Amino acid sequence: MTSINDYLINFPHTSFRNNQHKVLQQICDAFSSGYKRIILEAPTGFGKSAIAITIARTLGSSYICTATKDLQTQYTHDYKFLKVAKGKSNFLCKVKEDFLGAGKYLCSSCNSGSENECKHTSCEYGPCLSDESMEGSGCKYRTFINDYKTEYKGKENERIFINREKIDYYKAEYSNWIHLKNFDTSHEWNPCYYFDQLFHALKASHSIFNYSIFLSLLTNKNVLQQKNLLVLDEAHLLETEIVKFRGLSISKKRWRRYIHDFKMVDYGYSIDGWLEFLIDLEKTMLMLIGYDSLVYSLLKERKVKFGYESKRKTKAGNKRIVSASELFEDDASLEIDIKKHGRHLQIHKEILIDILQDIEKLTRTINNILSSPRNWIVSEVQKENYDVVRVELKPLDPSRYIRAIVEKCPKTLIMSATIFNHKTFEKILGIESESNYTKFIQIPSDFPVENRPIFPLGIDYLNFDNLQLLSIKTKISRAVDNIMHIHSKDKGIIHTTSYEQLNFIKENLSKMNSRRLILTDPEIERDEVINEHAKSQKPTVLISPSLHTGLDLKDGLSRFQIIIKVPYPNVADKWTSEKRKIDKEWYYWQTGLRLVQAYGRSIRSKDDWAKTYVLDSAFNYFVKMNSNILPKWFLSAIRK
Ligand code: SF4
Repeated sequence: MTSINDYLINFPHTSFRNNQHKVLQQICDAFSSGYKRIILEAPTGFGKSAIAITIARTLGSSYICTATKDLQTQYTHDYKFLKVAKGKSNFLCKVKEDFLGAGKYLCSSCNSGSENECKHTSCEYGPCLSDESMEGSGCKYRTFINDYKTEYKGKENERIFINREKIDYYKAEYSNWIHLKNFDTSHEWNPCYYFDQLFHALKASHSIFNYSIFLSLLTNKNVLQQKNLLVLDEAHLLETEIVKFRGLSISKKRWRRYIHDFKMVDYGYSIDGWLEFLIDLEKTMLMLIGYDSLVYSLLKERKVKFGYESKRKTKAGNKRIVSASELFEDDASLEIDIKKHGRHLQIHKEILIDILQDIEKLTRTINNILSSPRNWIVSEVQKENYDVVRVELKPLDPSRYIRAIVEKCPKTLIMSATIFNHKTFEKILGIESESNYTKFIQIPSDFPVENRPIFPLGIDYLNFDNLQLLSIKTKISRAVDNIMHIHSKDKGIIHTTSYEQLNFIKENLSKMNSRRLILTDPEIERDEVINEHAKSQKPTVLISPSLHTGLDLKDGLSRFQIIIKVPYPNVADKWTSEKRKIDKEWYYWQTGLRLVQAYGRSIRSKDDWAKTYVLDSAFNYFVKMNSNILPKWFLSAIRK
């Protein structure tokens, strides 16, 4: 049996902080007595990642998942032995890089020859996905997982490498590659950036993923090998990540790129209506890429598997019926079959790649809806001039999908600064019936309370109706302006709950303060905005409805923060309002979570300090009604 000493020798730092030693003892005891899962709630600055690394090294192998690429980078910076896996969009395709380097690149889709302008230079649009001659080993940069060997497995100096003979083989193949005839200068062989880093991560004993790549790999059951531990960091975001991954958004603008007269009929919030619409759309798309036979196969399969029969009839013709396992058990097999057919079409290759991905997602969503229709909801129907331009469908209760993740490894460590009510949280994860296997460990904050005061200013009650009134908007803007004047030399952050709030605040501030603002924008990468704030020598102030989580504004990066409104999730969104109807606790849990997460952005260590101002008069009421779930260290910071 693993003893506490086994854990302690794997602790990655020379000394313990806060309660780290105590927590390791608790985790050791819990695993020894048969618990399979640990839920660890520990505040910012506690050093949760050091705990995760200790457990991972002690158990021998692990997958660590976190929410953002920034956090992945932070982990690999601190723990060099971790191998990182990022998605295709983060890597330049080497085939395209060759053309770019020789000044011969011209994208047939966006007609651009510049890396900065063209959206298709990454591995997401690699020719290996759309060009038959580049498939498999056709692209000589492409490596395969079996090429990679491991040395000193599980040790600090573990090394993943391709052996010399294999590299020589690749180099020989490469030197005869017809692709090189396009260039006058000589090129050296190196593996494709994307596949190389992915295989390092898959082969390594310990690797770190972000949720989006981990979820996409999870749909292919053969890719992720068994490991002893799964760490889910920033776990309060799991539900959102899963809903984002499983949900589907169909927009007129995107689908008109494939079907010129694409129309969206208004089925309102009827899931049945939209389901028929999606099946029709799937049929049109499959026929467009020349795979008519799959339309009939899907109908047949859905009748057998889900008892579903479309009201619209489709004739069989001479079509091959593919097996259920080919269609449903593994998303990857469907993708491969569609790819073969799509390649013969006269469509820009980059668009074909988008089409294939969109059909794959469409088919997966249709099957998910059919397998549990009551669990799906039309969350938003967006219109322009009475025409539907976008529809969004989401699973109401994603716990079945989350459970599949939580059960990926024999042991799971689930970590966040904001779990609060672990019963509600276990329900979200779909593991509430197995509480005998789940140990909840909660650690209080030991940051001095005088370093992190919360000032409830009670400017006015800010609900949706009130926020439409000019008088209220003026009051809010004035309060923000005053606080910014008090902190005229400090950097800070303003948390709004909508872009509308952000805009009216910006428009109504004094010129001096308005110029200090740095705004987020859904069209601009979040990292770009944060870097601008961090690099500026001026007392800049971030303002955003989307920076309440996963952002580290330590020390001088923020000395004050303004929370405009109690961040209740938006009930205008059908998904949120349905969830609220079903489970009020979930709704208040979500609100508290956003509030405490926002509060945590600016105080990152024991020596850090920042003032928090809350403008909404509803804050005190919310706190009173939810004092049983809000952490004591948060409540103790509120000034009367
Ligand atoms: S394997 Fe990599 S380098 Fe080769 S085409 Fe695909 S993305 Fe590009």
